[in-house]
Amino acid sequence: MTGPDPRTAEISAHLAEVRSRIARACVDRPEPTLIVVTKNFPADDVRRLAGLGIGDVGENRDQEAAAKHGLVADLPLRWHFIGQLQRNKAASVARYADVVHSLDRPQIVSALGRAAAAAQRRIVGLVQVNLDTGPAGPGGERGGVAADGAVALADLIAAEEWLEIGGVMGVAPLGGDPAEAFARLAAVAARVRAVHPGARILSAGMSDDLEAAITVGATHVRVGSAILGSRTDLG
Ligand SMILES: *Cc1c(COP(=O)(O)O)cnc(C)c1O
Repeated sequence: MTGPDPRTAEISAHLAEVRSRIARACVDRPEPTLIVVTKNFPADDVRRLAGLGIGDVGENRDQEAAAKHGLVADLPLRWHFIGQLQRNKAASVARYADVVHSLDRPQIVSALGRAAAAAQRRIVGLVQVNLDTGPAGPGGERGGVAADGAVALADLIAAEEWLEIGGVMGVAPLGGDPAEAFARLAAVAARVRAVHPGARILSAGMSDDLEAAITVGATHVRVGSAILGSRTDLG
C-alpha cells in the first residue's frame, strides 16, 4: 500500500473539517462525542471511519443497519440507532444497538425492553423530544414526544430492567431556528436529569447546525453528510 485509497482520503479531509468546527464551537466547553451517521453509505465506509479513529456510528433504518453491522461486527464501535423505531424491529435493533436515540412512546419502550432482555444486552435509551412548532406539515413525521411528556417517558425507560435512561435527543425543525429549538431541548434535558441524575446525554446537532447544539451543551452530535458526502448524490 502506498497510501490511503481516494475515498479514505476524502473522508479523512471532511472529518478534519468537522473536527475543527467542533473544536471552534467548544471554547470553554467539553467536546461532544462525534457520531458519524453512516446511513445510505456502505460497510466499507464504516471500516474506513473506524480506521480514522471514529468510535461511534449512527443508523436510522433497521434493515440496512443490521446488514451493515453484520459486515463489520469485528470493529470496536458503538452503534447508535437514531431513526424512528417500529415495534416489529425492536428485536433486531436490540441485537446490535448500544444506544437507541428515538424512544418516543410507551409501546416502543416496552418492546425494546423485552427485546433487550431476550438479547441479554443492556441498551441505553434516549427520549426523542419533538421540537417542531405548529402543525406537522409534509416532512413532519420525524417522531418525538411532546416536551411535557419527556419525564414520564424517561421514567418508563428507567423502569425497564435491561434499559438505562441516557438522556434526550432532538432534531431541529425544518426551516426553524435551531438555536431556539435546541435551547428548548436543553431545558427538557435538565428536567429529565433532575429526576434521573445519570441521564447526561443531550443528543443534538447535525451537519448544518452542530454549532448551535454545542452552544446549548450537546454531549453527542450526529453528523452524516458533512463527513461522508451528500446522500442524494448516490444515485
Ligand atoms: C440523517 C440524520 C442525521 C445526520 O444528518 P446530516 O445532515 O447528514 O448530518 C442526524 N440525525 C438524524 C436523526 C438523522 O436521521
